[in-house]
Amino acid sequence: MNTDFYTVTIDGTKFELLKRYDQLKIIGFGAQGVVCSAYDLVLERSVAIKKLSRPFQNVTHAKRAFRELKIMQLVDHKNIIGLLDVFTPQQTLKEFQDVYLVMELMDANLCQVIQMDLDHERMSFLLYQLLCGIKHLHSAGIIHRDIKPSNIVVNGDCTLKILDFGLARPTTSALLMTPYVVTRYYRAPEVILGMGYQENADIWSVGCIMGEMIRGHVIFPGDYHVDQWNKIVEQLGTPSQDFMSRLQPTVRKYVENRPFQAGYSFETLFPDAMFSEQSLTQCDLNSTQARDLLSKMLVIDPEKRISVEDALSHPFVRVWHDDSEVNAPASGTYDESFEQIQSVRQWKELIFKEIQNFQEDWMIL
Ligand code: AMP
Repeated sequence: MNTDFYTVTIDGTKFELLKRYDQLKIIGFGAQGVVCSAYDLVLERSVAIKKLSRPFQNVTHAKRAFRELKIMQLVDHKNIIGLLDVFTPQQTLKEFQDVYLVMELMDANLCQVIQMDLDHERMSFLLYQLLCGIKHLHSAGIIHRDIKPSNIVVNGDCTLKILDFGLARPTTSALLMTPYVVTRYYRAPEVILGMGYQENADIWSVGCIMGEMIRGHVIFPGDYHVDQWNKIVEQLGTPSQDFMSRLQPTVRKYVENRPFQAGYSFETLFPDAMFSEQSLTQCDLNSTQARDLLSKMLVIDPEKRISVEDALSHPFVRVWHDDSEVNAPASGTYDESFEQIQSVRQWKELIFKEIQNFQEDWMIL
């Protein structure tokens, strides 16, 4: 029995926490576990604590947990959530069960903010920060591919941080896993259609988020995988033959056999009436600029879609430009070769070792 820890059960979930973390309250649920707010008696600040229950229980969970642990330590940027502590209440590898990640606490996730009547200033500031965070992840070799509002957290002062680090290399077990419903609304066409992808796959997700801020609801609410593609084409139109020619033969056959869609102009899809009234009276940022940026992000063909750099230089976003935020280099690159590991036993060891390394590094500091 380790006396540094205490046990508390909230809403049926048992937490075994270091005594420094007090006043636990549940604030969210994710694919991997429960998230609480707490007060850290040592740092004298509020924190968020995520409990990962048996993260090595299958390869998909293990990859996600390891990815999160590694990447949070690799990146240090104001638009990416910072890791403050990692611990497990179990003392040995044999007993090892749960991981607790202690992070900076934010007020809400973007789902709770996106439907508010956001004026241009707030919208452009949120987009600027999201693009800075994404650019920083790219500099660490991480193309996210799964940016969505539930993985973005914000504070009342409109500051924004990315919470999660995206899709790992796919495995067959990913298909079998978890009752948790996967949100695909924000995934780029090249990700949905299984093509190669580049950094600007993440720009598509930013476009979906921006469109939702303007419209007030999800812009491509596909009911299932293929329906996601249909929702995109209904609004943006059937893509060019050149794009089709880059698809795998079976996917190409499906896409080419869909009825032709002409699509709509961005003025029709996102008319002035959808923008906040307040924002229409502001002179420096306007809905024409917002629509111009959106029309460059929501481009089906990634070869014709705007890059992260160019989006950051767009007049709707560059008003916030600060070189130290836009061009902050990562301290290293994420080694994806770990993600080849398929044995649960090896993952258990690796995650346990990573927690120990964190504790040791912390002692040295
Ligand atoms: P996750 O398991 O990381 O997907 O998080 C699930 C939910 O918990 C998020 O959508 C947020 O609502 C909330 N959450 C997670 N981490 C934090 C944090 N650091 N600050 C505030 N809320 C958080």
